[in-house]
Amino acid sequence: MSVKLDLFAKWATRGGEYSHAKFWKEGILNKVMISAIYARERSANLRELMEADKNVIIFLDSGGFTVLRKNLVLNPIGILRFQEQSGANIASTLDYPISPQMSYKEKIERTKMTIKNAIMMLKLKQRDDLKLYASIHAWDLKSAKIITKKLSNYEFDGYAVGSLIPIRGNYSKITEIICGIKNSLRGKNVHCFGFSGIDGIFMAALLGINSFDSTTYLTYAKYRHYIIPQTGQRICLGQRVKTEKRYHLQELPCSCPICLKHTIKDFIQSNSRAVGLLSLHNLFVLVSYVKLINNALKNGFYGELLERRLRISPRLRNAWLTFKKINKDSPKIQKIDEYVLSKYYLS
Ligand SMILES: [Zn+2]
Repeated sequence: MSVKLDLFAKWATRGGEYSHAKFWKEGILNKVMISAIYARERSANLRELMEADKNVIIFLDSGGFTVLRKNLVLNPIGILRFQEQSGANIASTLDYPISPQMSYKEKIERTKMTIKNAIMMLKLKQRDDLKLYASIHAWDLKSAKIITKKLSNYEFDGYAVGSLIPIRGNYSKITEIICGIKNSLRGKNVHCFGFSGIDGIFMAALLGINSFDSTTYLTYAKYRHYIIPQTGQRICLGQRVKTEKRYHLQELPCSCPICLKHTIKDFIQSNSRAVGLLSLHNLFVLVSYVKLINNALKNGFYGELLERRLRISPRLRNAWLTFKKINKDSPKIQKIDEYVLSKYYLS
């Protein structure tokens, strides 16, 4: 397995702003995550709809999260056939997300259905070049281990971990779940749905995750938040914002293709184009951070960067403390590179 953390940016496509955020056409990132429900409602020919050539890697989820929200009933085989016909490169199996409020009994029932769907979809898959990731929804270290062990008896191309959004602020719980999964697997890709921001990138590398997807770039842009490339801070450029301090930038402190061609005025207009443009800048910054972390992991200075980041991020410190508690043989932070590489990325 290669030493690489990949970011897929979610193309959420609900409003007009998204049509201005085709980041793959701007050369910012060629990895796109799309909801199967959205894609099914629009077109079978996804690449045509997106104006995306074969260099764009498309990860199509199963729509389980939308099912939970909208109370839809979906047929796993129908979803699989659509995933196969859509031209996607990677797909995840139809899942039943869980939330912390659900009873233990409900979590178990939903998990059983998620596992059953995954095995059925793997058996009935027809397109050989479509990579199929088994969806995993766990709620603690123990459940993560048990579910992963069960699924690891089958030849999935990878695993996709969901139900992280309801616990997104709880880095300790996320660390528990991912360690439960990664420590029970060797040599398989693990993708996490819905990681966010720069702290999320640091945590992803510590936990040996291979890829994750994020809507952060777009969510920030909706509130007119601009990520400062040099520090990773986000500042509000918004108009009509009463609750937050507003910043004015004489000159944009960034040389991404968007900032080179635009001014702050283009980002603060009250229209969807402004959201789209600002989201492209934000994504550029996040992609740069992923590149930095990948370089640091390969060249042995990830530990140094993590140590600095822990000083300013309490939630990342929680992830680090939980990681050390679970992995009792883990070394000091300065030596963590080698440990993470050999335990997760090179095994
Ligand atoms: Zn920029």
